[in-house]
Amino acid sequence: KAKENIHSKIEVYSHRASSELKEKFIIDNDIRSAISKNELYICYQPIVDVMKKKIIGAEALLRWNHSELGSISPSEFIPIAEKNGCINSIGNWVIENVCRQNKLWQDLGYKNIFVSVNVSVRQLEEKDFVEKIKSILKSTNLDPRYLEIEITESAYMENIDNIISELKKLKDIGVGISIDDFGTGYSSLSQLSRLNIDKLKIDKSFVDNIENNDTNIKIVGAIIMVAKSLNIDVIAEGVENKRQLSILKKQRCKKVQGYVFSRPLTPDEFEKRLIRQ
Ligand code: C2E
Ligand code: MG
Ligand code: MG
Ligand code: MG
Repeated sequence: KAKENIHSKIEVYSHRASSELKEKFIIDNDIRSAISKNELYICYQPIVDVMKKKIIGAEALLRWNHSELGSISPSEFIPIAEKNGCINSIGNWVIENVCRQNKLWQDLGYKNIFVSVNVSVRQLEEKDFVEKIKSILKSTNLDPRYLEIEITESAYMENIDNIISELKKLKDIGVGISIDDFGTGYSSLSQLSRLNIDKLKIDKSFVDNIENNDTNIKIVGAIIMVAKSLNIDVIAEGVENKRQLSILKKQRCKKVQGYVFSRPLTPDEFEKRLIRQ
């Protein structure tokens, strides 16, 4: 009986493994034509000033609606696009769309709304990345201060000197720099100040359970204190409920993003939220 059990478990497992593998293979192949087939679109998740309860910006989050597989999570297809090199053309597509969209919002009178874009290290390593951003800003006519790039903490560690020099070039043209998923990597405080960043986003894992985890409260409080002393803005990510929100407020966290205010929205939905406020 026990043996039978194990056997069926193995079968289930290997079946799942092979279908996962198949899916990876399809993604790897189809991601190359996702742009031309119009299967990609961008959602905007509001970033909110806690005190004023006002939307001050948004994070652009990529979505892929695959003809057969349906919607695929970016956590699934981005790593594959990073491996097969597609991330560069996809990343440029995202930045261009975001800049064009935000310029429209600026022109409609929603001034000072920034949009942050997730950027992979692979993109920063591309020779003409900064030039490409410059040309996108020029062609869309968006003021660089309303564009921010987010780079994941764990991602920049390997190639830090090169990353620092690319980030500096972006800063020089007025683009904001934000560290994503802060607290999950191993960056030191001295690196933080060397990176000369504008913002850091406290990873969702510290916000989860903050209502019954004293250690997380202390960690978040410490991050906010250090950030303040280095003149770095803080955003808490993945805030889902009022209790988390009130604890974050007590820790003097001024900006948040999460389901408690809004899920990622289509551009139309986001615009409606702007109109309402
Ligand atoms: P991220 O940059 O850390 O983005 C935050 C993720 O948390 C998003 O997942 C967002 O939908 C989700 N989220 C926000 N608030 C809440 C909340 O209150 N509760 C929960 N449970 N989740 C929340 P999403 O959209 O699935 O994106 C996953 C990751 O994929 C992103 O993590 C980012 O690393 C990557 N990604 C997304 N778009 C792009 C892109 O255009 N380029 C690159 N290179 N990476 C991207
Ligand atoms: Mg992000
Ligand atoms: Mg994040
Ligand atoms: Mg993330």
